[in-house]
Amino acid sequence: MENAPAEIVRRPSAWEGIYHLLCPRCRTGRIFRTSIFRIFPKMNERCPVCDLKFEREQGYFLGAMYFSYMLATVVISVFAVLVWTLLRWDLPECVGTGFLLFIPSASVLTFFSRVLWIYMDQSIDPDITQP
Ligand SMILES: [Zn+2]
Repeated sequence: MENAPAEIVRRPSAWEGIYHLLCPRCRTGRIFRTSIFRIFPKMNERCPVCDLKFEREQGYFLGAMYFSYMLATVVISVFAVLVWTLLRWDLPECVGTGFLLFIPSASVLTFFSRVLWIYMDQSIDPDITQP
């Protein structure tokens, strides 16, 4: 066993952590207990691996709304451009249709924006007080 090569465990990058919805500190523990593709996904209060508290304070996730707005704007714009490319409708109809097409993805984007918010917050003000 002494001559066995040491197992090299690569820490996932921040982008991989965001994509896989992993804790920003250890990048091992999952942020959500259930898939964000469910209507009401269940979020862990703390990271099951490193015990990072995800919701640092009351109203913490209000900041995630900025990411939610940004993602919604991008998705609606992409759908509106697709509708315009395919159908050549006027702008209000393209944007309205883009909004209607966006609605099914609103829940997923809302919870994904929480992940982006946690990562941004932890990169600016990392929580080092917890084990
Ligand atoms: Zn963790």
